[in-house]
Amino acid sequence: MRSVVLLGATGSIGQQTLDVIRANLDEFSVELLSVHSRVEELLLLVEEFTPRGVVVGDGIQAALVRSRFPGLDVGVGAQGLAEAAGAFPGALVVNALLGAAGVVPTLRALASGCDVALANKETLVCAGDLVRAASESSGAAVIPVDSEHSALLQCLKGALPEQVERLVLTASGGPFRTFTQEQMKTVTVSDALRHPTWRMGAKISVDSATLMNKGLEVIEAHQLYGTPYDRIAIIVHPQSVIHSMVEFVDGSLLAQLGSPDMRVPIAYAMFGGHRRAQSGLRRLRLEDLKELSFEGPDYERFPALGIAYECGRVGGTAPAVMNAANEVAVAAFLEGRLNFLGILDVVRRVVDRVPGVATPDLDAILAKDAEARRTATGMIRDRGLS
Ligand code: NAD
Ligand code: MG
Repeated sequence: MRSVVLLGATGSIGQQTLDVIRANLDEFSVELLSVHSRVEELLLLVEEFTPRGVVVGDGIQAALVRSRFPGLDVGVGAQGLAEAAGAFPGALVVNALLGAAGVVPTLRALASGCDVALANKETLVCAGDLVRAASESSGAAVIPVDSEHSALLQCLKGALPEQVERLVLTASGGPFRTFTQEQMKTVTVSDALRHPTWRMGAKISVDSATLMNKGLEVIEAHQLYGTPYDRIAIIVHPQSVIHSMVEFVDGSLLAQLGSPDMRVPIAYAMFGGHRRAQSGLRRLRLEDLKELSFEGPDYERFPALGIAYECGRVGGTAPAVMNAANEVAVAAFLEGRLNFLGILDVVRRVVDRVPGVATPDLDAILAKDAEARRTATGMIRDRGLS
């Protein structure tokens, strides 16, 4: 029986993680669940999974939970998350949080020796060097949940580093893959949320439309596998059947294929890289596939890619600044305060304006994250809806 701490239980990845746990109740027990706002759903989950503790977003939610479940340990906010992440030695921490809020809990979990099944790619973008150091010093593992990185992990099994030529990340291309810059000027929030192949939370859906999601994933891959940026490639593959590939020095490519369903990489991570049969998953039927197509990414229509490679190569706090600006800009787009093309315009200008720190500690990263958020917020307020 493996204890599980699930951070971000009501999100898209959180709910699918709970599906995997429901299907394997003799293997996993839930010690802690966190939510940010959906406290009514949390109450139902507490009844179902009987965790020892929960973390909620604020004091009002905490009072509600305490009144219903007097014996339950209730933490609050960022501090509650950080404490909870390291409070259950030996537990598997599933980090399904959104954005840079995932950084500190990941580091706390690793420092306490807990393995982390990491969906929260922003952790690796903002603080990948610290994550690697924490994992090396405690021996706790970081296991990727992101489908591309799970695919890479599977393709890299047994490979010697010197045999690997390139990592090839596949991208669906998002809902605007074929749009001109002119067409992208007028797209709406609901257009951006209509992802062609995956159902996901709102922020990552917008990131998939700008291709910033792929940019974040390039940095994530660099941090997970230590591969230099000039050996991480992106290929647009609209069917999302190949989840990523590794190209070897002899010219062979290994790919991992499957139906687009996050429960597969979630379970792979939760079972520590072991394959388990799961019921209820749609199998990939090759005879039903009409085609698998590929095209190179367009760096002009999707400037997020170039910015992400650039910030990744600069290193230090540059990726954290890019990520924070993107989080603020995407939130403004979702709230109707910024148009679609404004997202990358804001990110570009924040990256250019906020000076970096070359070898930051956690405090320096968090300070730059805050500075980038303030700068982006000011820019969006000043520019209006343009
Ligand atoms: P989501 O918006 O559906 O859920 C996010 C969860 O985090 C919710 O439980 C929310 O309550 C919590 N949360 C949000 N802001 C918070 C804050 N400031 N403090 C504490 N908790 C907070 O998002 P999602 O789509 O499940 O994505 C979660 C992470 O997984 C992201 O990093 C995303 O990039 C990554 N990811 C998601 C998918 C997917 O299919 N959804 C695939 C690959 C990777
Ligand atoms: Mg992905």
